[in-house]
Amino acid sequence: MKLILLGAPGAGKGTQAKKIVAEFGIPQISTGDILRKAVADGTPLGTEAKKYMEAGKLVPDEVVIGLMKDRLQEDDCKDGFILDGFPRTVEQAEALGEITDIDAVISIEVDMDSLVERITGRRSCPKCGAVYHISFNPPKEDGICDACGSTLIQREDDREETVRKRLDTYTRQTSPLIEYYAGKSLLKTVEGNGSIDDIYASVRKILLGL
Ligand code: ADP
Ligand code: ADP
Ligand code: ZN
Repeated sequence: MKLILLGAPGAGKGTQAKKIVAEFGIPQISTGDILRKAVADGTPLGTEAKKYMEAGKLVPDEVVIGLMKDRLQEDDCKDGFILDGFPRTVEQAEALGEITDIDAVISIEVDMDSLVERITGRRSCPKCGAVYHISFNPPKEDGICDACGSTLIQREDDREETVRKRLDTYTRQTSPLIEYYAGKSLLKTVEGNGSIDDIYASVRKILLGL
């Protein structure tokens, strides 16, 4: 199963991807996670990416495409994968098409006001990558990761000032991918304004029907 999860920042791609991983055993490949790790490690890639991420802009296509070419060749990808946050431009989608075929593109659609609420309330575990929401998906103990006990953080780019810029970037550069994949008959749309479990039920139905 080779899947793309498409959706605006905060739509719930990462949350749904983790549920697919748990049930279907294919890896989640998040370009955002890979880039954040590079920033934390202070690699040349991280230094380059940081300025774009902080400004709510996309990291240049050639950088992200190069990174994904390598990642998709790794052993764990041979039985399938879930792409979370890639592709984000038509140019990235075209490059992906040259690397591999995709079985389905699941687009999670959420209204703008809910996106802002979801992103600004998001709290992330810097150690294991678990994601929570202060109201919609709180950890058992305030500010502490259920999975590994680390102190949760708010991502720098999840503050309201940057969130607006990221949503604007999504509208301009990423939303054309909806048409792009509809044109290739790969697009499956999921209503994303329900509970995490309700949305997963819709996602699961699509996957079992592939
Ligand atoms: P994305 O990967 O698309 O940016 P996330 O999966 O990180 O989105 O979700 C964004 C935030 O919204 C997180 O805080 C998450 O806990 C929360 N969230 C995810 N799905 C839902 C949902 N169906 N209802 C309410 N909150 C949600
Ligand atoms: P979200 O799903 O909340 O938007 P991500 O973790 O996917 O957050 O991405 C965080 C940031 O990393 C983006 O705002 C962007 O700067 C960068 N990024 C992630 N994926 C890509 C990509 N495919 N192309 C360019 N930049 C990316
Ligand atoms: Zn953790």
